[in-house]
Amino acid sequence: MINILKIKEKSYEIENLLKSEIEGISDYLFKNPELGSQEFKAVAFLTKILKQHGFNIIDNYCDLTTAFRAEFSCGEGPTIAFLAEYDALPGYGPNKVPGHACGHNWIAAGTCGAAIVLSKLKENFKGKIIVIGTPAEETIGGKVNMVEANAFDDIDLVLQMHLESNNNLECKTLAIDCIKFQFTGRSAHAAAHPEEGVNALDAVQLMFAGINALRQHITSDARIHGIITYGGDAPNTVPNFTEAKFHIRAANREYLNNLTKKVINCAKGATLMTGTEVHFEKFENSFDNLLNLPSLQKLMKKNLEAVGIDNFLEGGKKSFGSSDIGNVSQVCPTMYTELALNIDEICFVHEEAYLKYVNSEEAYDKLHKSIKAMVGTSIDILLNPTLLKDIKEEFNNLKRK
Ligand SMILES: [Zn+2]
Ligand SMILES: [Zn+2]
Repeated sequence: MINILKIKEKSYEIENLLKSEIEGISDYLFKNPELGSQEFKAVAFLTKILKQHGFNIIDNYCDLTTAFRAEFSCGEGPTIAFLAEYDALPGYGPNKVPGHACGHNWIAAGTCGAAIVLSKLKENFKGKIIVIGTPAEETIGGKVNMVEANAFDDIDLVLQMHLESNNNLECKTLAIDCIKFQFTGRSAHAAAHPEEGVNALDAVQLMFAGINALRQHITSDARIHGIITYGGDAPNTVPNFTEAKFHIRAANREYLNNLTKKVINCAKGATLMTGTEVHFEKFENSFDNLLNLPSLQKLMKKNLEAVGIDNFLEGGKKSFGSSDIGNVSQVCPTMYTELALNIDEICFVHEEAYLKYVNSEEAYDKLHKSIKAMVGTSIDILLNPTLLKDIKEEFNNLKRK
């Protein structure tokens, strides 16, 4: 009879011994922030550490220059992947020096840390421990390209945690489409020969008016928000070219597909009214909504409580954004958990004020607990085949067909 509790105790001891190295990962990334698709230092640093711990590295994974896969094999068994993120945000103030206000330094330290701890327990299970380095979460959403390149086809379970304002096992993210619209008309002197002009700025404005009317008739979870990125050259010239960018979001992909069609129709309607032409295309990857699996949430809850984390948000958050992990969750059972820092100041991820907390002693405390809980959940799954079978069954019933 395998004593799972004993193995978990052992994993906590191993994690304690690795504490300073794990904190070093968070600290290095925090002090060397890089924007999405430019995370070269981060990838070099993380893959060097994982290699030192016996992981085999694949660089340029899925043809993304700042993606990687690190694998530690302990024979035939379940394959568990920890997703590392390491891109920073553009930053604040006049110089906009990039900064980790979303705490991706913490994510990378947590997911690499969990994989390293598990690799030290190889005598106790059969299976594969993987770290997938997923670039540019804040911009293009590298995981979408990786899903399309079948990077998750051999993975049985994906784990990741993120800092947020609550402890949350029922995280929700909205599906999103990011569409750019370019209207073309004909320029003319706006005062001398306005009758010769075809006004591309009118088209953009009429598109916004159409969307504003549409907003009354969409579900309350949906969001449509856009900006005009090009509005013309001079007031005395009828604009012959304009451009607007929109984010369109909804709680599920099916509804969003329909809503995006309606937004596109607003643009087409504007061309009929103005005599312009429109070209539209995606300017960033589309994300799916996150698929939650109750059986995995229950397991993670048990493992978080075992390390002293409780007080979980009931029923999930009321407001949320979008993330490329949504796409991963539609092709592979995924447990994405949010953990809160115990801080007095009211501030949230992406805010300048939050920067000072993501590499703090408090962040480290939660980092070690997140690793222990992810490792504990992995041990449960590696040592209990029925558990993974049930999770997969639930996933197959709930995933987007
Ligand atoms: Zn973010
Ligand atoms: Zn983030």
